[in-house]
Amino acid sequence: MGLIKNARHPFYEHCHSALNEIRQQGRYRTFTPLARLAERFPLYEEEVAAVPEGREVVVWSTNDYLGMGVVPEVQEAAIAAIREHGAGAGGTRNIAGTSPLHTQLEAELASLHGKEAGLLFVSGYVSNQASLQTILTSMPGWICFSDRMNHASMIAGIKGARGSQTVIFEHNDLADLEAKLAEAPAEAPKLIAFESVYSMDGDMADIAGICALARKYNAITYLDEVHAVGLYGEEGGGVSQRDGVADQVDIIEGTLAKGFGVHGGYITASAEIVDFLRSTASGFIFTTALPPAVVGAALTSVRKVRAEGWRREKMFERVNTFRQRLRAAGIPFTMTPSHIVPVPIGDAETCKRISRRLLTEYGQYATPINYPTVAKGTERLRLTPGPFHTDEMMDEMVRALSVLLREEGVIPGRSAAERQ
Ligand code: PMP
Repeated sequence: MGLIKNARHPFYEHCHSALNEIRQQGRYRTFTPLARLAERFPLYEEEVAAVPEGREVVVWSTNDYLGMGVVPEVQEAAIAAIREHGAGAGGTRNIAGTSPLHTQLEAELASLHGKEAGLLFVSGYVSNQASLQTILTSMPGWICFSDRMNHASMIAGIKGARGSQTVIFEHNDLADLEAKLAEAPAEAPKLIAFESVYSMDGDMADIAGICALARKYNAITYLDEVHAVGLYGEEGGGVSQRDGVADQVDIIEGTLAKGFGVHGGYITASAEIVDFLRSTASGFIFTTALPPAVVGAALTSVRKVRAEGWRREKMFERVNTFRQRLRAAGIPFTMTPSHIVPVPIGDAETCKRISRRLLTEYGQYATPINYPTVAKGTERLRLTPGPFHTDEMMDEMVRALSVLLREEGVIPGRSAAERQ
């Protein structure tokens, strides 16, 4: 394969210079070659030149928060669905028909959130993008009130809704939201889009408070529970279930890829809202349905997560234990009301270097979270301890962080290595 040197179209040159600029700004993304070890989770195998068969590392940055993706029954359900129905869905739901697995999973999710109906999408990203864009173009004059920290997938749907108006309210700031709702014309159709758990800061929305404002100003509510489903509430129905307010939210959106450990996205709502999106959302209609293996595995996972509260309890016990150990070792972390443990670093290069050194010197993998994902100066490691992290793994990680944060000047004091 030869290099295309003199490609005439300006887009070739654009890619070249844009990539250079991204590199210069330190925003170039590299992926760490890590293969998940289903039988030894949260251990992953890292591809290292010196070790042909790879090296095992402990992963602290998975979004498979409960480790459901490696639970044997979930894996078996995927295999059984492939054997019974084949590897792919064979087309869109309209063209290829709809398998009983898909409808069963939709019913399961609707019941989890106490809603009349559910609709599957190929990912959580697509569920947000397609649903919001479709809703906000459905009638003239929509105004969308969007939390400043909303995820890119919601922003994509909101921005893609041509003709609608967007009002951004300050993050989790109900006074600001109310002031902005009050300013809007009373007759305009309004929607409030927000998340329950914000994944980078680990903070939570006041769902009841936002729903009360929605009632007062006649808005509908769209809640992203992506980082909460499976983890909060008596059956893992999210923060809205935990707070007893799921019935006040019009549309609850979630993913099957994090707390449920598989893949895919969904919304749940009234039967007619779901039917409307099923009939009109381009991102639902014109794409091949999720494959049977994914739907079969997700169905088993959701049922298990609903019934087995011990998985949630274990995760929170592990999160608390990890926090205690960090505190005892003098490692700063942000205390959040959720399962997310951010360790502030405050500088992009240092953050990347610490992450790199954690991996190469200590076999611990924690992704650096840098600008533009978070604001400059708030760069951090985002750790998500789960039921599979043992005490020994925690001790190792705390020891590694303790040395590296001192050596890299994030916390004062000389490292153990320097004292020797
Ligand atoms: N919403 C939020 C808040 C997210 O963080 C993400 C992905 N990380 C998504 C939606 C998209 O979900 P999925 O990964 O299933 O596409």
